[in-house]
Amino acid sequence: MGLTCARALSDRGLSPVVYEKSRGVGGRLATRRFNEDVSFDHGGQYVTAQGDNFQTYLNEAIKSGSAAEWLPNLDKELLSTKKKIVGVTGMNDLVRPLCKELDIRFNITVTGVSRQKKGWLIQTDKSHEEEIFDKVILTVPAPQARDLIYDETPLISVLDQVSLLPCLAAMVTFSEKLTIPRDVLRNGSEVLAWCARDSSKPQRKNTYDSWVLHGTPRWSKIWLDAERDTIAEKLLENFRQTYQNPLPEIRILRGHKWRFALADKTLGKEFLALDDNTLFLGGDWCMGPRAEYAFNSGRAIAAAVI
Ligand SMILES: Cc1cc2nc3c(=O)[nH]c(=O)nc-3n(C[C@H](O)[C@H](O)[C@H](O)COP(=O)(O)OP(=O)(O)OC[C@H]3O[C@@H](n4cnc5c(N)ncnc54)[C@H](O)[C@@H]3O)c2cc1C
Repeated sequence: MGLTCARALSDRGLSPVVYEKSRGVGGRLATRRFNEDVSFDHGGQYVTAQGDNFQTYLNEAIKSGSAAEWLPNLDKELLSTKKKIVGVTGMNDLVRPLCKELDIRFNITVTGVSRQKKGWLIQTDKSHEEEIFDKVILTVPAPQARDLIYDETPLISVLDQVSLLPCLAAMVTFSEKLTIPRDVLRNGSEVLAWCARDSSKPQRKNTYDSWVLHGTPRWSKIWLDAERDTIAEKLLENFRQTYQNPLPEIRILRGHKWRFALADKTLGKEFLALDDNTLFLGGDWCMGPRAEYAFNSGRAIAAAVI
């Protein structure tokens, strides 16, 4: 989480600038809002904390109303002792407490980072937004980071060892509640890895029954170049077979591609940096496929910068 890093730097009196290509925060802790009644967490489903730092952050987020515990109706084998925490009213709200008074420049895609005499030049898709900085921190998936630092051959060869698995997703809303009591289904098929009733999460509008379906990494790899509508149809078809009864009327059906969803081969340490500590790279791909690892990576980079 780049925002974790920016927050820590800002709290220590520095003035980080955050470039974000989307129009909102959250990254893969994503929420798609269709209208007042329907939203989906189509990326990260919930977070758990193993370490104290992330636990403390989550406790604060719960206190401030940005997060809450999700208590889905689960099969016994999916139960765990770890609390499942989600953002309210969507997963991307989980990072809201980090944003206060940060200089976040939305809708700007960084297209390159190159060393100049006076520092690092950040090139973007908006030419008026090019600036020189003394330090640069990249917290995008490793395969995307490698394309931004084309001059840094030694770092690129390290990044090339890292990989992330894709995940194809479908968001579907039914006009009536499905008759299955469970809020999470795993049918063990080669197609669907995870099906969750999004409308069972706290403080979601549940006028309708909304589900998020995630394809398995293997299936997602095969269908990665398909149209989003095709992906959604295919995932729904597999869900239909699991449900067995006729499905109610579908109000919304959309597909989404996460080309770099879950860290697979990781870096094995919390971040990567040049020896002169002017360029840092981090994210979940450093240590593992969970938001907590991204959080820890951001914190570790901030500590190294300060
Ligand atoms: C389908 C799916 C399910 C998941 N389930 C879980 C789960 O249940 N529990 C869990 O803990 N984790 C889960 N994860 C993983 C979790 O979402 C990630 O570990 C975490 O969000 C990674 O954070 P990050 O900051 O490293 O990267 P990201 O969240 O990818 O953030 C990178 C940010 O950089 C921006 N960006 C990228 N390129 C550029 C550019 N060129 N210029 C400007 N901005 C750019 C992006 O828009 C994004 O906001 C899941 C992820 C997916 C996709």
